[in-house]
Amino acid sequence: MSILEISNLTKRYGEELAVKDLSFSLEQRTSTALIGPNGAGKTTTLSILAGLLKQTSGSVQLNYESGIGFLPQHPQLFPWLTALEFLEMAARLSGVRAKDVRRQSIKTLEMVGLGSAANKKTGAFSGGMKQRLGLAQAIVHQPKLLLLDEPVSALDPAGRREIMDLLKSLQHDTTILYSTHILNDAEEMTDQLLFLQHGRLVEQGSLAEVKERYAEPSIRIRFQ
Ligand code: ATP
Repeated sequence: MSILEISNLTKRYGEELAVKDLSFSLEQRTSTALIGPNGAGKTTTLSILAGLLKQTSGSVQLNYESGIGFLPQHPQLFPWLTALEFLEMAARLSGVRAKDVRRQSIKTLEMVGLGSAANKKTGAFSGGMKQRLGLAQAIVHQPKLLLLDEPVSALDPAGRREIMDLLKSLQHDTTILYSTHILNDAEEMTDQLLFLQHGRLVEQGSLAEVKERYAEPSIRIRFQ
């Protein structure tokens, strides 16, 4: 059974139709890339699934008690906190039991390669470190469903590599839905591609299926 089923999801901001009649499902322990240009509706879709926005119509059904982790496009990291202080706060907010907060936060910082920066203030972090801490915040409570809004878009190639490798290491027991506007990023880690344009799902399938339907360069031109 799929972990998440979305049916006829529609979101309007006043007159603006941001997401139109979107339907798809996520199978357990698969990775899905939500691809589309700026304004396609990716952030709106992920924000609805993360429970931060209410859809205008349509349904979102979560089929397992699995916990959701969400990495926003621009995570707020509170520059005056250390990485460990920040992550402990995030752990408490996402329901980690009080007695497990310290241990789970340290373990997660080590997982994302920030063990040695645990006591540094996040204000001094590089872009790559900030993104890794954002990801730590999304996974500290060990969710089974991970929603990531443009996790690598703002990073240089080395930073991208680090985050993609981290995500791949989570794939075996996590269902991942992430957005990007770059097909190359999606090619690395995807069981399912969802192409959004002007809020509509215009293409859906495995990488092989989509490539078969379209010559690769045409997709690049359309979606980059
Ligand atoms: P980007 O890659 O630029 O983040 P996106 O694919 O995530 O784009 P959304 O941010 O979901 O797209 O925006 C979809 C559409 O909804 C856009 O036309 C945008 O201008 C509009 N929109 C988004 N948020 C709001 C808002 N709060 N009020 C009004 N319109 C909005």
